[in-house]
Amino acid sequence: MNSCACAAYCARDRSAGARAQSPGVPVPSLEIQKGETILAKPVRKPEPRKLISAPARKTDVLPVLTGPSLFESADKIADDSLPKIQTDLGDCTRCKLHKGRNKIVFGDGNPKAELVFVGEGPGADEDAQGLPFVGRAGKLLTQMIEAMGLQRKDVYICNVVKCRPPENRLPEKDEVATCSPFLLRQIDAIAPKVIVCLGSVAVQTLLETHRGVSQFRGQWLEFRGRKLLATYHPAYLLRNPNAKGEVWKDLQKVMAVLGLEVKKGKSS
Ligand code: SF4
Repeated sequence: MNSCACAAYCARDRSAGARAQSPGVPVPSLEIQKGETILAKPVRKPEPRKLISAPARKTDVLPVLTGPSLFESADKIADDSLPKIQTDLGDCTRCKLHKGRNKIVFGDGNPKAELVFVGEGPGADEDAQGLPFVGRAGKLLTQMIEAMGLQRKDVYICNVVKCRPPENRLPEKDEVATCSPFLLRQIDAIAPKVIVCLGSVAVQTLLETHRGVSQFRGQWLEFRGRKLLATYHPAYLLRNPNAKGEVWKDLQKVMAVLGLEVKKGKSS
């Protein structure tokens, strides 16, 4: 078989060539001295290459968490409740986001909600009021909730991090790692039927993936035994109103699971 028949072999051939030129390996001179007889060297038949099956590539799409997780230390706490979690959070200074915040935005809504929305982190309005999703994006989320036939007090709304990142930047890895166990406790304490992740940070945190929300949008996933669906963040919809139709389709799926009537012609 021609050694160039597959890219893997070619790669191996190239790497063998590179090894031969490495300074640690003596390379035979190709110069021919006058009068020197060149004897044909016996050609050693190459041993057949063994096919080694590559280990299965670990995908970073983890609809169901089965292994060690970010939340390992946040095992379920018996009789946990939102007030207890809030007390434990206290006047939190566990991560650097505490330095610039005005108010911790713990979360808001029905402590026994069937539907929990998880966003990314508080913005300026939320930081000022201590409530989640109260700015422009929050108003749009409220409209989305009402289009589903619900009110804000029927659902629970919270974020991955509870203090505003400066300049509305994305929360950093260490901040997410420090704050998100409280989110997990909130989800466990509320025990909703459905979790809706708003945007990439929420879905990346709960599913421990680097993939963006568009990779998951509209698909039913499972998170610790609960149904999880990811959709676009309302702030994204403010910038890209054309995506509202996609989000409405996602919310209709949630409505179907929750037994909410889908009204014809209703859209966000
Ligand atoms: S973001 Fe979370 S962990 Fe960081 S200071 Fe605020 S409450 Fe504490």
